[in-house]
Amino acid sequence: MKKAFRGLVLTQQDKTVQAGFQDIAIEDLPEGEVLVRVDWSTLNYKDGMILNGLGRLVRQYPHVPGVDFAGEVISSDDPRYAPGDQVILTGWRVGEAHWGGYAQYARVNADWLVPMPDGLDGAHAMAIGTAGFTSMLAVMALEEQGLSPDQDGEVLVTGAAGGVGSVAVSILANLGYRVAASTGRADTHDYLRGLGATSIIDREALTDASKPLLSERWFGAIDSVGSTTLAHVLSEMKYHGVVAACGLAGGPDLPATVIPFLLRGVRLIGIDSVMCPYEKRVTAWKRLAQELPMAQLDAVTTKVGLRDILPWGEKILKGQVRGRLLIDVQ
Ligand code: NDP
Repeated sequence: MKKAFRGLVLTQQDKTVQAGFQDIAIEDLPEGEVLVRVDWSTLNYKDGMILNGLGRLVRQYPHVPGVDFAGEVISSDDPRYAPGDQVILTGWRVGEAHWGGYAQYARVNADWLVPMPDGLDGAHAMAIGTAGFTSMLAVMALEEQGLSPDQDGEVLVTGAAGGVGSVAVSILANLGYRVAASTGRADTHDYLRGLGATSIIDREALTDASKPLLSERWFGAIDSVGSTTLAHVLSEMKYHGVVAACGLAGGPDLPATVIPFLLRGVRLIGIDSVMCPYEKRVTAWKRLAQELPMAQLDAVTTKVGLRDILPWGEKILKGQVRGRLLIDVQ
């Protein structure tokens, strides 16, 4: 094991956050039960915010960002993990309140880790990352509300060409749902059809939040956009339709009325991946390993070296990243 290793470190000066690569010593890592060699990480929307010092997500600097990682256990004070084990970490505010995955080693609490499920490796786990994990949690939420692929009609995915959206389209299509993919990018239509979308909806067609009820269109929806898009989607849900609210790429507000809930019994379910309990995590990762076609995952993944990550942090905030970014940390 190296005594010093490379990592991306955020520092703050005069309220401005700066990112730079530094040598970090193992002793510098925060306390925790398990030391992991980080092989792979990823870039989520939240990572983009953290890299750019937005949202007051990081309160203490210097800070190693990276909300997800996958790698090999080097040493462990916890009986659940032994050297050589392959592990995944997403959420638990790692990369925000605790040092994260954009360095070659990380030390974390054992409770935050999930063993690598059969059928998955570190690179594919991080091609999925928090975004794809959230997509599976959203699918599971729709199922818990009784949705099934044999229902009449389509499930809508908004922000479809983004990370959460791409993986959601792929999982739903693979389960046999008919999937309408909403995107603002015309150059992603073939990509989305390749993931199994049965129809493509222009993002602009889903932004009118002025009417509480519109014609019934969707029996389920996975929304990563929020704001007027989510308000519009609520007004188009079929009777007893279910919406899983995952994100705020279009804004954190929700200019809606309660009418869809009162007159159509529409259900709005919140999805949180960060504090998701362990058992549910294990179930979601097993299902991702089994139900997400790996060839499709490869098709939505762009591999980037850690050294080249910074411009991608800006692109994701502008909605310019297609699918998922896999970060090679070693
Ligand atoms: P991406 O940037 O990869 O995807 C977001 C997509 O939303 C974009 O690709 C774009 O899709 C669409 N979009 C972007 N800006 C706008 C806009 N102004 N109006 C309408 N649509 C827009 O991000 P992720 O997929 O990683 O994350 C998506 C959202 O989910 C984020 O808000 C993120 O914070 C949230 N999230 C929440 C989690 C949770 O635990 N609840 C976990 C992970 C993410 P297109 O080009 O197809 O139109």
